[in-house]
Formats: sequence, C-alpha cells, structure tokens
Amino acid sequence: MPTQIPNSRVMPRFAGLVTFGRYPRVADVSPADRPLDWVFYGVPFDGGVTYRPGARFGPRAIREESQYLKPYSMAHRVNVCEQLSLADAGDAPVSPYSAPETARSVAEYATDLPDPATARLLALGGDHSVAYANIRATWERRGRPPDGLALIHFDSHLDTVDSVWGEKWGHASVFIRAIEDGLVDPGRMISIGVKGPLNSAADTDFARRHGVTMVTRDELENSGPATIRAFVDGLGGAPAYVTFDVDVVDPAFAPGTGTPSVGGISSADALTLVRSLRGLNVAGADVVEVLPDRDHAGITALLAAHVAFEIVCLSCP
Ligand code: MN
Ligand code: MN
Repeated sequence: MPTQIPNSRVMPRFAGLVTFGRYPRVADVSPADRPLDWVFYGVPFDGGVTYRPGARFGPRAIREESQYLKPYSMAHRVNVCEQLSLADAGDAPVSPYSAPETARSVAEYATDLPDPATARLLALGGDHSVAYANIRATWERRGRPPDGLALIHFDSHLDTVDSVWGEKWGHASVFIRAIEDGLVDPGRMISIGVKGPLNSAADTDFARRHGVTMVTRDELENSGPATIRAFVDGLGGAPAYVTFDVDVVDPAFAPGTGTPSVGGISSADALTLVRSLRGLNVAGADVVEVLPDRDHAGITALLAAHVAFEIVCLSCP
C-alpha cells in the first residue's frame, strides 16, 4: 500500500494522533512510498469573511471527522490507499490580521511542499480566500501554464466581487484575483450551484463578461449535469483545479458555514456531482468554508472530508 494507514483493528479509528484520513504525516512517509500523489494541508484562516467568522477552526474539525473515512470507494471501485500515496503536511502559516499577507505566506509554503512533480495539493479551509494561495501554488508547481488552470467551482456564490470594504483579498473576491493574475482561465471556469438572492443583478456581470460558465442551482435539476459533462469533456485533459465551498450544500445538510444559502443541493447530490467529473485531470483542490461552531454533530466537517475523498478518487489511475 503506497499509503500506510493504521490497521483499524489494532489502532481503532477513535485512537491515536489525528491527521487527515489517518494518512501519514509527510515526514513519516517511507521512501518506498514516495513520490507523493496528494498532500493535504490546513489553512486555519478566516480573516477574509464578509459575514460570520469561525472557519479558522475548519481544518481541525475536518481532520477530526475524517477519522472515519475508509479507503475503498464503491463508486469508483478503487482503494485510494492502494493506488495513491497520500500524506498530511499539517497547517500552513497564516497571519490572522491580514488576508494578503496570508495569501503570500500560504502560497509560498504550499509551493514548496514535497513532491512538486507528482503531488497535487488539497487545502482544507479556512474561508474561501485561502483558495487563491493553493491555486497559485498549484499553478507554480505545474510549471506556470501560460493559459492558467481550468477551474471547477462549487459554490452558492460567484466570489467575483472586486473588493469589499476596500479589501481586495477577501473570500468574495478570490476568483477575480486568480483570473487577474493569470492563474485561472475564465473561459475554462465553471461555477456550479450558484443561487440568489444577490446584492444586485450586477453581481453576475463579471462572470458573464469574462465567459465563465454558470450552472445555477435550478439548472442542476435539468440541463446542469449535461452542461458539466460537456465542460469537462471540452477541457481535453487540461489541468483543472477543483474548489468546493461547502455553502453550495443546503444548510439542512451543511449548517456549519459562514454564509449559508437556503435551497442548496443535498450531501448526496454533492458527492454525485463530484463523481460526475470523472475523466477530469485534477491538478489540485480545496474544500473550504467549514465553520465548526455553527455545525451540528460535525455533519458539515464530515461532508467536507468526504468531498475531499471524492476529489482524490477522481485522480486514481
Ligand atoms: Mn465561496
Ligand atoms: Mn459561498
């Protein structure tokens, strides 16, 4: 097994030190299991939120709930621990008072994580502003593709507001910054699960002007799945980054988040949608906006752990 996890009949899932999925810490991976295929790391930062704070505790909550993440996927018929070398790198350095400084320090940390030639990065948030750093690091590790990365974006919100309260690095502005800096190609970006109410009709202008494909929550009931399939097929294997904001899921299933949006998809829908990306060349990913203090019975953090697992499954050979 390239990923050595404790035998749960010897060291039960409720015992031992906590890493994501019970995967080894990067420093504990034996040379025989290198190079790594995925590195997980936390970004305990919520200085970019426009509403309720608390997502800085997201990484710990997701790791805790991930202890019950088993390695065999029935849907994909793969055991990720047999197919892939997975490891947890701990948390990135953050500056709780500064979103731009955090973006800089996290991007630097993530870019230097091992094994850049093979290991995809999966960031556990944190508010959505942390996606910028992981997208930048992924772009760097992919040799700075001049056209930027394709982006699969699950969210109730577009996160393309230029600035809020004069700050350009918050969670509502993350994709404007990534597009401006050439990290993401808006013509190969799809936002899935978007719904209102919005501040104004102009909230969708940036996405429309720049050719972002939008699949609204309502469209998921009819044309949405076909649009997503055509989008993935149209990428032709180009590297694509997956960013998953848990508020795309209805607060009935994912109450632990800072900007909840009523009328979202179910947990089961979320897993099905991620699985529907089969064939995607996943370059990196994040799962963000888990706010444990608003969660009940850890269900949002548990969902986030499972979404991360489903994204990893997409990369199995
Ligand atoms: Mn978001
Ligand atoms: Mn959102």
